[in-house]
Amino acid sequence: MSRAYIALGSNISSREGYLKQAIDALACHDLITIKKQSSIYETDPVGYEDQERFLNQVIELDTTYTALELLNICQMIENELGRKREVRWGPRTIDLDILLYNQENTMKDQLIIPHPRMHERAFVLVPLVELDPNLTIPTINKTVREQLSLIPNQEKRGVIKWIKRDGAEE
Ligand code: ATP
Ligand code: CA
Ligand code: CA
Repeated sequence: MSRAYIALGSNISSREGYLKQAIDALACHDLITIKKQSSIYETDPVGYEDQERFLNQVIELDTTYTALELLNICQMIENELGRKREVRWGPRTIDLDILLYNQENTMKDQLIIPHPRMHERAFVLVPLVELDPNLTIPTINKTVREQLSLIPNQEKRGVIKWIKRDGAEE
């Protein structure tokens, strides 16, 4: 059995709906068990800033799929949920990134684990710390809590716990 962490992101309405649908789609595989879900955070866009704010979440799962099989499943779910690739880091219904897979260090054409930009992203580290602050990121040999403490406060302020308001636009 392997343990993996996946980051989810959406900034096209209904953002919460897309997060839920993606988690449900992962959970419906017999070889995947979702163990934990972080809170949902609303976050400022990073990389390409002229777009709507994101909802981000991280989940912990156990699986007997290989990392590459898991990536294929994630990409199928992105396609099913209407993900289009137009602008790099641009608007998306759903993005599924594999952050960690056991303590593996993998570098293939289609798959790099740990995710190569996870350690610089407050919108990944904040929800990940909520799941397990003592997880080690093997490439930098730091725990996620240690790594989050190195992120500038200004970036952390762009990551706010999201609370659903009745009737509000998701
Ligand atoms: P970023 O990777 O900076 O978060 P992005 O999520 O917008 O950007 P995508 O267009 O979703 O980038 O993915 C581009 C490619 O990244 C995918 O086709 C996939 O093969 C590759 N990739 C490499 N490592 C990973 C990983 N750990 N998880 C998901 N995709 C990965
Ligand atoms: Ca991403
Ligand atoms: Ca991605």
